[in-house]
Amino acid sequence: MTVHHHCRVCGYDWGEPPWGITGETPNFEICPVCEVEAGYEDHSPESTRAYRASWLARGAPWADAEVPHDGLTTEERLRHVPAGFE
Ligand SMILES: [Zn+2]
Repeated sequence: MTVHHHCRVCGYDWGEPPWGITGETPNFEICPVCEVEAGYEDHSPESTRAYRASWLARGAPWADAEVPHDGLTTEERLRHVPAGFE
């Protein structure tokens, strides 16, 4: 099975799977880009899309200035959203 290292909301590469290697054990960490808490707002495709819509409506800000930018545009990053959560 595919292990997803990317944020379900924004597609950021966490460097580790936010939902674990089985996709069923969220680490409850906060995405440095969209600030979703893995296991909370992204628990279903519907909740993920709703959270993404509100993040995009705020201008899709990069939340954590301490984390180096990945060099992608929001649009490029969103292409990495795991299948089923687009
Ligand atoms: Zn994110």
